[in-house]
Amino acid sequence: MELHDENPFKIRSYQSALTALERGDFDIMEVSDDQLSQINGVGKGIIEVIKNLKETETYPALEELLAKTPEGVLEILQIKGLGPKKVKALWEELGITSTHELMEACQSGIVAKTKGFGEKTQESIIQNLEFKASNAGKWLYADIESVIQNLFENLQKLGSKNQVALVGEFARKLEVISEAEFLVGTNDWNALKKSLKSFEEIDWNLSISGPQTWRGKMKEVDLKVVIHFCEVKDFVWKKLSLTAAKGHLISPVSETEVLAERIQKKDFDSEEEFFSKNGLQFIPAEMREGFGEVGLAKENKIPKLLEEKDLKGILHNHSTYSDGKHSLRQMAEYCKSLGYEYLGISDHSRTASYAGGLEIEKVIKQHAEIDELNKELAPFRIFKGIESDILGDGSLDYPNEVLASFDFIVSSVHSILNMDIKRATERLLKAIANPYTTILGHPTGRLLLRREGYPIDHKVVIDACAAHNVVIEINANPWRLDLDWRWVRYAMDQGVKLSINPDAHEMEGYADMKYGVLVGRKGGLTKEMTLNAMSLTDIAAYFADRKAGIQ
Ligand SMILES: [Zn+2]
Ligand SMILES: [Zn+2]
Repeated sequence: MELHDENPFKIRSYQSALTALERGDFDIMEVSDDQLSQINGVGKGIIEVIKNLKETETYPALEELLAKTPEGVLEILQIKGLGPKKVKALWEELGITSTHELMEACQSGIVAKTKGFGEKTQESIIQNLEFKASNAGKWLYADIESVIQNLFENLQKLGSKNQVALVGEFARKLEVISEAEFLVGTNDWNALKKSLKSFEEIDWNLSISGPQTWRGKMKEVDLKVVIHFCEVKDFVWKKLSLTAAKGHLISPVSETEVLAERIQKKDFDSEEEFFSKNGLQFIPAEMREGFGEVGLAKENKIPKLLEEKDLKGILHNHSTYSDGKHSLRQMAEYCKSLGYEYLGISDHSRTASYAGGLEIEKVIKQHAEIDELNKELAPFRIFKGIESDILGDGSLDYPNEVLASFDFIVSSVHSILNMDIKRATERLLKAIANPYTTILGHPTGRLLLRREGYPIDHKVVIDACAAHNVVIEINANPWRLDLDWRWVRYAMDQGVKLSINPDAHEMEGYADMKYGVLVGRKGGLTKEMTLNAMSLTDIAAYFADRKAGIQ
């Protein structure tokens, strides 16, 4: 509507209805028109639109607008920093209707010379387009998980005598997936290939396929598919070699041999036998990255990895006090019903006005409510926390007497994300040195496939956490998974505990803890080094001790 100069009042009414609907705790498909009409900002016109959407998944006015908007323009609208006004200018003044044309215009410098743009904007468009291109066809693990799982099940149905395994990135639980890779062991290649040819979900690309490997693409989603074939007798060693990253395969096992050469000997019948025969501890699939795990296995130093069931509580969550969807009570009762012993609520601090950050009076009110709920829900306990913004100079967002009223504090950066590595690191160091910081939240601010985090010196930051007894969060939101798993072992080696935090903004958000556990395991995380694997008694003592140590 903004692209087509529609009535600004109409545009605003859509926006406010959308905000109201998103905030509401209901399934829009379930509620009646009557209930809808009671929501602030949802008028007759909007109800009509919703009705249409429910019945036909579209509505006439939308179709009209889409019909006169080139698809490429909609794609350009997705680029960060380009609002409808700028996109409209690019379209009308420069005739740009695709990301390809936009890139060319930027490279020739025309965009910078257009009114309202300038060099800086042009540079940032180029960067965003490059980032986007390098991420095309890539998926967050969590977003593509069920697609790949379904495909796996359908492949299993092709023949009861076949063996099927998930291999590659997905088997290693990588945070970003660029292809779904499978191994099928069969003694009847012809039958298998025949049924695969007529497989409805995949478009095969024969020009890049070979007799033992077929490549193609899913029809419904932009995802590459690779299927390897082998005889049943070769299944175990093939699976070992296809599951591992290259770095794992070229890891030395002896002075003269690397792991891949040992696999080639094919003198084993199971993965367990392979590892034990070669004097190695069993290495779980998710760790086969070439990240020092073979060396650890040689010395029997692969630890018992954290499991979801080890987690005893859920820290770093938001409620309706700030930008969460569910009330404090709902968040607590649901957490308790899942069998956890405690919940850490940490709404946004006051500087985060965009997220309804808490003014001091609201903090006091929330604490009173927590005290009441704790009486009612005992022995379950809610810990009083806050997600304090780390301000530009590294300080926290409340005076000390307010900071002292919390059981724990997650300190996170949410603004001024464009600092260079030196300033960004110093900013974190100052927040870590603040005695009130209990947990460093999402250390780099990255959003996978969407934006790179601000650059930080991971070693220096982790060392500082060790020196100041600060826990580092593994933010379990699939977009974040920050701290990156590649730094988990270094942190543990320095004695820094990690916390698997869902950063839930609604009850369902707790389920994200699963993804935090997956990447924690990739990094070798143990139960002992996980803060929220502590029992209620232990973590209550931990928080209390830490507070007692503040001078
Ligand atoms: Zn945050
Ligand atoms: Zn948060």
